[in-house]
Amino acid sequence: MIDIVAMRISRRGFLKGAGATLACSIVDLKALCKDTNLSKPISDLERPKIKGRILFPGDADYNEERKNYNARFDLSPASILFCNSDNDVIEAVKWARRNKVPISIRSGGHSYEAFSLIDKGTVIDVGDMTAVTLNAKKTIAKVQPGITLMPLCETLWKDQRVIPVGSCATVGIAGATLGGGYGLLARSMGLTCDNLIGVKMVDCHGNIVVADEHQNSDLLWACRGGGGGNFGIVTEFTFHLHPIENVSIVRLRWKWEEAADVMRAWQDWACQVDDKMTSILTVSSKKAGALLGLAMYLGSPAKAQSLLNPILDKVKPKKFSVVSMPFIKAQREFSGLPTKHAKNDQSKDLTEPVHARLHSRFKSTSDYVRANLDDAAIKVIIDALSEVPSDSSCVQFDSYGGAINRIPVKDTAFCHRADTKYCLHYQISWAQAANDIKNVNWINDFRKAMQPHVSGYAYQNYCDRDISNWGHAYYGDNVGRLNSIKRKYDPDNFFRFPQSIVG
Ligand SMILES: Cc1cc2nc3c(=O)[nH]c(=O)nc-3n(C[C@H](O)[C@H](O)[C@H](O)COP(=O)(O)OP(=O)(O)OC[C@H]3O[C@@H](n4cnc5c(N)ncnc54)[C@H](O)[C@@H]3O)c2cc1C
Repeated sequence: MIDIVAMRISRRGFLKGAGATLACSIVDLKALCKDTNLSKPISDLERPKIKGRILFPGDADYNEERKNYNARFDLSPASILFCNSDNDVIEAVKWARRNKVPISIRSGGHSYEAFSLIDKGTVIDVGDMTAVTLNAKKTIAKVQPGITLMPLCETLWKDQRVIPVGSCATVGIAGATLGGGYGLLARSMGLTCDNLIGVKMVDCHGNIVVADEHQNSDLLWACRGGGGGNFGIVTEFTFHLHPIENVSIVRLRWKWEEAADVMRAWQDWACQVDDKMTSILTVSSKKAGALLGLAMYLGSPAKAQSLLNPILDKVKPKKFSVVSMPFIKAQREFSGLPTKHAKNDQSKDLTEPVHARLHSRFKSTSDYVRANLDDAAIKVIIDALSEVPSDSSCVQFDSYGGAINRIPVKDTAFCHRADTKYCLHYQISWAQAANDIKNVNWINDFRKAMQPHVSGYAYQNYCDRDISNWGHAYYGDNVGRLNSIKRKYDPDNFFRFPQSIVG
């Protein structure tokens, strides 16, 4: 989510999750975990010998720490193990294996469908592992999995370096990278996973496995877009760094009534303009009335403006600006944090588990577009956004092409490249549990109505339990290789969740 509308609308108060969602999770778990020890209370088992915190139901922080970013989920793990070293993670995995306790893996806790939480099982949480170390030449960074995006950007900015990431401050680098990682530098520098050159992982036996181009390169391949929760627990990422200074930020606002013309003009332009320009278009519900363009350009405002002419000539915006600013200022502005945080370097505060308190109920899903939407498809979008059960709804268009599409589809587990033009990101959020069904139905019906017009693929980081053919939708033809890598590194399917690679 590049947080124009979505982040603003997701900053509502927390409400407890729906019983329907809870029931669904228990059914999933029983089906998945026939060989586990769910019947035995965890308090009857030996205590895991980790140095980090351990929380059980009834402990003071338990209720805060069991929350997912999406308040639609209300899961109650039997314990949460906060690991703060490789040894802790090793001990946690060995303890869970010995005691047949089902686990989930959590870093930033932003999974749309709460795949990093588990009802009645144990959450292995690496959110306290947040170190970032640069090599002497400042070309490579070793990054622990618990750091979230804004503190990571702040740390790297001190050396005028960047890893291309999304803009939401509190998303974890781990989940983002392992499922892809799209942001406003993606067309110029690639996805986050495209800049990943190594991982250190604790496998299902509690052994450390290192994957890079020289050893276990198949596992590195899998972690570049297909690794979230599937093969082991990543305790360190190695990334290639890019230099960064000022960027040009483009903001456009049109009248909502011009949405169809703007969508047509944007899709002709966004994925074939200069690679240094990454843009997104957000069309909100008709009632909210927002029609916004945003772009980051690695070059001067004058050049950015000239590149925009084809779209400006087609539909004249109501408001338009291009401003040069330090990259970090732009990242703070789009971080979704309250302005007082965004304006200053508050990276210390940001290491708090903010995912535990900043959220609403939401449902989001996605499609990929490989051939431009025709008028019939654009009408489906306009019609859906004209009749919404919650005004806090939108479709965001994320431009692809450039550096993303230059990588061959088979070179990484992330398959949404080649002729992919853009990602459609459908979003709706609301406050009351009583409205869950109508809002979820709206988005499911919307996505269904779009199917004749789109590619059949979906973005794995915008995971959606309601996509039944998710293996193909998320990974395309790469799913076969992911299955064989699963059989090699996790033959007993210890790491599993409702949409995990099964082997
Ligand atoms: C508000 C918001 C804004 C977003 N904006 C963007 C955006 O701009 N661009 C974008 O591409 N995506 C975006 N996303 C989606 C985001 O990339 C995914 O939700 C991502 O998976 C979150 O990672 P996490 O570590 O925070 O979540 P978690 O819930 O902790 O983990 C997500 C998945 O990864 C697994 N996992 C977590 N840590 C590890 C680990 N150490 N080893 C192995 N597996 C692990 C989990 O088991 C789970 O399956 C956004 C999400 C939200 C809620």
